[in-house]
Amino acid sequence: MDELIGIILNIRIRDVADIAIVAFVFYKLYMLIRETRAEQLIKGIFVLLLATQLSQWLQLHVINWILINTMTVGLIALLIVFQPELRRALEYIGRTKFLTKSIVDIEHEELNTVVDEICEAMASLSRQKIGGLIVLEKETGLNEVIETGTVIDGKVSRALLINIFMPNTPLHDGALVIRKSQVLAAGCFLPLTENTNLSKDLGTRHRAGLGITERSDSIVIIVSEETGAISVAENGKLTRFLDIKTLRVRLINSFITTENKKQWQFLKFKRGNKE
Ligand code: ATP
Ligand code: MG
Repeated sequence: MDELIGIILNIRIRDVADIAIVAFVFYKLYMLIRETRAEQLIKGIFVLLLATQLSQWLQLHVINWILINTMTVGLIALLIVFQPELRRALEYIGRTKFLTKSIVDIEHEELNTVVDEICEAMASLSRQKIGGLIVLEKETGLNEVIETGTVIDGKVSRALLINIFMPNTPLHDGALVIRKSQVLAAGCFLPLTENTNLSKDLGTRHRAGLGITERSDSIVIIVSEETGAISVAENGKLTRFLDIKTLRVRLINSFITTENKKQWQFLKFKRGNKE
């Protein structure tokens, strides 16, 4: 009892901060892996750790030996199997605001125009049942993706977007990448999602669109060639059958960060009054 009181009396602010930081980091890590395949894995590791500890207490030497050795090999296997997730986690840390300056500093008016042009183009593709796949870059740089396609570097306009996806043209196959208000490249190859719970009627276009959002913070718009349906993928999640109005709101919201949301609403209010 005296010992416990001694420990409590010896707690310094630094220790509290230490514990708080560790708790915060674990919380953030949990949020990061939640609803990914890593979540089940972490649960699996917990069970293994528990079993190892239990076998030690109960002095089940053979089981304990097997478990401890499995864990050593398992750790190396983990690093290899979860290389994409680890990479994503590191990229996420790198994206943290105080470490980088956001490249999503597109002006509000400009954002408005870009989103309008994109939405008009998507509406047109959807009506004509022309397949489309557009990646909007946010803070994770997509240069690796851009390198797989053909560089364009043209200002976003509905005519350009529609033209690129016209069937039987050289650039219509693959994804188009937009950074701020520039079409950077077309005909890009995207990594396919490894999600196995997807509807059977989603083919490679949708899987490619989802895949890139699992590896970056980008937002992807997909127009189905088969049905003309418009979908949006973000953070590894797909929302299907969007109408143009909803698509517009989704895109704007995705680009407006919380800190400048107020300013954006103010501008919208001002514009609303003028009209
Ligand atoms: P849709 O509803 O339009 O048919 P889908 O999800 O069923 O879409 P597919 O029919 O397989 O997909 O679409 C094939 C097209 O998707 C290809 O012609 C190509 O343009 C695009 N695509 C397929 N894989 C990739 C990839 N990895 N990266 C970029 N684009 C891809
Ligand atoms: Mg298809």
